[in-house]
Amino acid sequence: MLEAEDQSVSEPGVSPDVQCSGLPGRVVPVIDRNRCEGKSACVEVCPYHVFELRMLALHERAGLSPLGKLKAWFHGGRQAFAVRSQDCHACGRCVAACPEQAIRLAPAPAVP
Ligand code: SF4
Repeated sequence: MLEAEDQSVSEPGVSPDVQCSGLPGRVVPVIDRNRCEGKSACVEVCPYHVFELRMLALHERAGLSPLGKLKAWFHGGRQAFAVRSQDCHACGRCVAACPEQAIRLAPAPAVP
């Protein structure tokens, strides 16, 4: 008996259970700096390894709202960054997983 054809993505480094038909380069994740608490749900769910956690730089902290600064202090100043946003396939997992509703998908900037 024939097995059902495997529809999963087979790109190197991509989790084999992913079935995302979106193409990269159409949208990018945008993180609300005043909402992100660095809980890393996006890092864990993104099958394309778009996110990393790191410490906020001084100029990034300076741009936060008073509440955002308080949250950053409380959570140790670590936040998620979309360091490989060009690899986003628009599956939406990070948007659904973020407990702070800090991520949205936006059209990718046009390449000059
Ligand atoms: S939508 Fe989010 S989880 Fe899905 S590929 Fe893009 S960055 Fe990763």
